[in-house]
Amino acid sequence: MAELTARVLELIASGQATSRTEIATHLGAAPSTVSLTVGQLIANGLVAEEGTRSSTGGRPRKVLRLGGVDEYALAADLGGTHARVGVVLPGGGLSDVRTIPFAMVDGPRPGLERLAEVLEELATRRGRSALRGVGLSLPGPVDVEAGVVDLPSRMPGWNGFPVAAWLAERFGVTAAVDNDANCMAVGEHAVQPPERRQAIMVKAGSAIGAGIIADGRLYRGATGAAGDITHVRIDAAGDTPCSCGNTGCLETVASGAALVRILQESDVDVATTQDVVALATDAHPAATRAVRRAGKYLGEVLSANVNFFNPDAVYLGGILSTVEPFVAAVRSQLYEGCHPLVTQHLTIERASLGADAGLVGAGQFALQRALTATLDAVAGASITNHHRRIRVP
Ligand SMILES: [Zn+2]
Repeated sequence: MAELTARVLELIASGQATSRTEIATHLGAAPSTVSLTVGQLIANGLVAEEGTRSSTGGRPRKVLRLGGVDEYALAADLGGTHARVGVVLPGGGLSDVRTIPFAMVDGPRPGLERLAEVLEELATRRGRSALRGVGLSLPGPVDVEAGVVDLPSRMPGWNGFPVAAWLAERFGVTAAVDNDANCMAVGEHAVQPPERRQAIMVKAGSAIGAGIIADGRLYRGATGAAGDITHVRIDAAGDTPCSCGNTGCLETVASGAALVRILQESDVDVATTQDVVALATDAHPAATRAVRRAGKYLGEVLSANVNFFNPDAVYLGGILSTVEPFVAAVRSQLYEGCHPLVTQHLTIERASLGADAGLVGAGQFALQRALTATLDAVAGASITNHHRRIRVP
């Protein structure tokens, strides 16, 4: 599949561009080339042009969108004890969102079977024929190409389980699986102004993760581990042992799991990250102090990354980002630790999608993958025709 075609579809699918001009600007490509590509996509039924949009003061114009009007993906964002499920539309729209119990410790088969039943209900209600894909956000490392969970520390029994293949077979459509921070980055990016092309999305929950948007696309790095800031070593962590086998990682002083441990050591009655958040929201002195310190440590590690990467925005997500002192501490540490050239136009804010960012991202991944599969099929067909033409004059 041609790279340009894929990029054009991605821009239309994510809602970042709705016209040939916008696409050409985004890609820095010649308008004639973009027009040709869009024309081919329309001819193949992958993109449609319709209606008029009255832009502010400008004259009405045609708007590009993905082929089928009613197309959607089913998506789920899995946590340790709950899953958020819903229907994701091209461009980042959401509907039928709800939270259901989900026990990660039960292992993949029983959990996914129950999840599939809920998703199947959503599909039946919405119309099975317009279902294009199923997307899953997982709280652990994922081999995205293989669709397999890869040595997860918090997902017992899931290592090596072919999640994407299982979903694809169960639903008969394309399936996409990715880790939670990447899903959140892609979901949040889809609904942000298109001029914010460089961003870091941090998930601060029981664990810490980050997803990177570079030049408007998810950046995975050489081996898919880009954004894994949780095992950056930090002085304040001393020689505290970490789940990775090393000592002194950010995770041991700034994650929700670390806050539970730290507060328990000072005889505060907490068992989960939710307990810590509840106390801090209620202005419990020790919990608030601990959460503020965690924000400072996260801000310290982020400063180095923000200085290096110079993003337009840092988005904060995950349950800890619902606590104001945590967000304030990250923000002030970033201003303190970064060069003014880097912070002068830097946006630091909570993810606008809140708890839905991962859901939207998982759905976007599924829709993109479904499009790629369709495109490959179209390209394969045209190559075959081409050969036929050469062989049979
Ligand atoms: Zn570690």
